[in-house]
Amino acid sequence: MIGAGVVGCAVAYYLARAGVSVTLLEREAIGSGASAHATGSLSLLGAEFTPGASFQIARASYAEFPQLVPELESATGIDLLYQRRPSLRLALDDDEAGLIKSLLAWQQPHVKMRWIDAGEVHAIEPRLSPAIIGAVYEDESAQLDSYRLNLALGRGAELKGAGIRYREVTGLVNDGPAISGVRTAAGDIHCGAVVVAAGTWSWAFTPWLDFPVPVRPMKGERLLLNYPGAPLPVLLSSPRRGHLISRTDGFTSVGSTGGRDYDRKELFWGEEFDRQPTETARLELLRRAIDVFPDLERAELVQQLAGSRPLSPDSKPIIGPVPGRENVLLATGHATKGIHLGPITGRIVADYICRGSTRVVSDMSEFLPDRFADFTDADFSIAAQTVEE
Ligand SMILES: Cc1cc2nc3c(=O)[nH]c(=O)nc-3n(C[C@H](O)[C@H](O)[C@H](O)COP(=O)(O)OP(=O)(O)OC[C@H]3O[C@@H](n4cnc5c(N)ncnc54)[C@H](O)[C@@H]3O)c2cc1C
Repeated sequence: MIGAGVVGCAVAYYLARAGVSVTLLEREAIGSGASAHATGSLSLLGAEFTPGASFQIARASYAEFPQLVPELESATGIDLLYQRRPSLRLALDDDEAGLIKSLLAWQQPHVKMRWIDAGEVHAIEPRLSPAIIGAVYEDESAQLDSYRLNLALGRGAELKGAGIRYREVTGLVNDGPAISGVRTAAGDIHCGAVVVAAGTWSWAFTPWLDFPVPVRPMKGERLLLNYPGAPLPVLLSSPRRGHLISRTDGFTSVGSTGGRDYDRKELFWGEEFDRQPTETARLELLRRAIDVFPDLERAELVQQLAGSRPLSPDSKPIIGPVPGRENVLLATGHATKGIHLGPITGRIVADYICRGSTRVVSDMSEFLPDRFADFTDADFSIAAQTVEE
């Protein structure tokens, strides 16, 4: 396993739980990538999931959490700050209402949800802005602390027998088309199968695999606030103004910036820029949150987080065996949904390694690396516009 973010740690956990011998290699620390910065929102409502396999995988991963969370918490003693709550997806103008309703049309048969008017919205939460014109109300949402999830998956994998070694993978060991190990500065490590889950840095494996791994870093920032008022009774989000969540540790999370918020040059500048919080994002995120919930003016800023999401050219994750190679799989490109999709990615990769195939979704072709076999170049900014936060 290469990379100890939520995706790599989830794969290590599901493999170790299935009795497979696993070594997880991480160049920095567990949770040193995007997974430490995420909101930890688990929602089926955004624009990222599309009808068919994409929605199936989203539902399947969402369904993992009710069992996975207590399992990890009792094994590791880490409180994941998990909360299952109804959510409101708010519209403050006709543009947002149009976006929400266009998704509602195909999502409604699959998720119990309904459009409610401004009166009903304010009956649920009177402190919301009077500018709100309506919302979708639904009851299949959750949220947790993504860094704690990352730590718990890593520790959980260790407790099930996985080894964690802190070293950077600098190449792959080939035996013809088969990959038989990884190179590190401390020497080669031989293994039966390699899984690349290096998040936004997975692109570096392209020459070693002689196969394209098209992911680019897409910057995201969010804020943690100390708000003196009562916590919100529901999870809030809106297509143009992001999320607003009262966490169970008492802090309020607002954000996030995404593809729409940076110019093309900034958006893919790379990891060093991505890790730097910006004043522009801080002011913009506060403005958007106060638009939705004016009383947030009384809140204090506690922390600003910034990280790099691994974005693929079609904004879908890249999961499965690398064509033309043996014993190597990719688990990357999860963009804005790597926390939500981490558990199911773990299950899918474990299926491929233990059984050679998976039945998690009826058609995996939307996610397989194979779809990029002829990839040479792409305008990633198009994909960046299709994901929300
Ligand atoms: C502001 C923000 C908000 C977000 N909100 C949400 C949300 O609400 N819900 C959601 O589902 N997702 C959310 N995301 C997206 C989510 O964070 C990512 O999709 C997810 O964390 C990707 O996980 P990963 O394990 O692939 O990558 P990472 O967490 O980046 O982990 C990759 C790891 O690989 C290691 N690595 C890299 N190269 C090597 C190497 N050569 N050798 C060894 N180790 C290596 C890195 O050090 C790193 O630890 C958000 C992201 C951001 C930035």
